[in-house]
Amino acid sequence: MKGLVLDNIHKSFGSVRAVEKTRLDFAEGELTALLGPSGCGKTTLLRMIAGLEEPSGGALILGGRDITALPAHKRRFGMVFQSFALFPHLTVLENVVYSLMISGTNKAEALEKGEKLLDLVQLAGYGDRRITALSGGQRQRVAIARALAQEPDVFLLDEPMSALDAKLREDMQVELRLLQQRLGITTIVVTHDQREAMTMADKIVVMSQGRVEQVGAPHDIYHKPANAFVADFIGRANFFDAVVEKGNLRLGDTLIETDVPAQFINGSPVRVAIRPEGPALDTPDMKGTRIPAKITFLRDLGPVRDIHLDTAIGPMIVEYATGETDRAFAVGSATDVTLPPGALHIFPRENTA
Ligand code: ATP
Repeated sequence: MKGLVLDNIHKSFGSVRAVEKTRLDFAEGELTALLGPSGCGKTTLLRMIAGLEEPSGGALILGGRDITALPAHKRRFGMVFQSFALFPHLTVLENVVYSLMISGTNKAEALEKGEKLLDLVQLAGYGDRRITALSGGQRQRVAIARALAQEPDVFLLDEPMSALDAKLREDMQVELRLLQQRLGITTIVVTHDQREAMTMADKIVVMSQGRVEQVGAPHDIYHKPANAFVADFIGRANFFDAVVEKGNLRLGDTLIETDVPAQFINGSPVRVAIRPEGPALDTPDMKGTRIPAKITFLRDLGPVRDIHLDTAIGPMIVEYATGETDRAFAVGSATDVTLPPGALHIFPRENTA
C-alpha cells in the first residue's frame, strides 16, 4: 500500500502561515493536482511531502508508516522541478542513471535500466546526446525518466509544464497522464493552471491562502463548487449578491425562483454564482426565472460566443456554443434571460474573498 496521508500537517514561516492544518489522502495510483493562485501554499505543501521543508506540526503517513522525520533522500520520492534541474555537462543517459550510479547500482544494470526509461518516455536513441541539444519537451522527458529511475513510491512534480510553450504543454499533459496511468504510480502535481489540473488529475485540491478550499474530481469541482472562491477560480462565473426570501432569492426588485438549500434561513445574505453556459436567451418554454436584458457586447471566440448583457439584476455574460443557435443577436437589442434553478450556485456571503 503506497497511499499517502497528510495528518494535520501545517507550516509557518515566522508570522506567515504558508499552510494551515491540512488533512489530505492521496490514494495509491491516483494523480492529485494541488491547484491555486500564486502564494496559496501549494509548493510549500509539496516540499513538506518531499522532505525538503520541515512541517511546523502534523504527520506524514506513507502506507501506514509515519515518515515525517525521514530525510528526503530516504523517502523514495521522485521529483521533477519547474526548471527540470538537469546536469548540462552530462549526456541524456548519464542524467537518467545518475542517481542509480551514486546509490551503488552496478554500471551495466544502471545503463540497461536507463535505456528502458528513455524508451518509456519516447527518447530511445537519444542517450548519447547532450542536454543542451534537446528541446524543452525532450528535456522534460529526461527529467521524468530521471525521477522514475529509483522506482519511487510517490512521484512529485512542481509546475512541470511551465517551461514549455502552450501547444507542447497540452501534449505533454496528456502524455504524462498516460504514462502515470500505465505505471500506476501515486503522483502529486503542483500547478496554478486549471486546464492542466483538469486534464491530468483524478482529484484536484483547490487551495487559497494556505487553506484547502475543496477536494474533488475535476467534474465535481467545476459543477459543484464548494464556495465562491472555487466557483471564481475554476472556470468562469457571473456573481450576484442576494438575500434569501421564503426559499427563493431576492436581488433588488427581482425575485428569482430556485431551490435554496435548507441551511440558508430567511433573510440570509448570499453570494450567487451563475456559469455563463447556464442561462439562455429568449426561451419562453424554459423552466426558470425570466429577467429583462439588453445586449451590450458580442464576442466571437470560435467554438463559443459570449453575449454580454445588462440585466435587471446586473451585468451578465451568457455563453453559447457556436452552432447551438443560429439566432442573430444584435448589440443594443432587448432580450430576456432565463435562469434555470440548476444554474444557480448559492454560497454564504462571508465566504467571498
Ligand atoms: P507560487 O505559485 O507563486 O509558487 P505557491 O502557492 O507555491 O506560490 P508557496 O511558495 O508555498 O506558494 O508560498 C506560500 C506562502 O509562504 C507565501 O506567502 C510565501 O511568501 C511564503 N513562503 C514560502 N516560502 C517561504 C520561506 N522560505 N520563507 C518565508 N516565507 C515563505
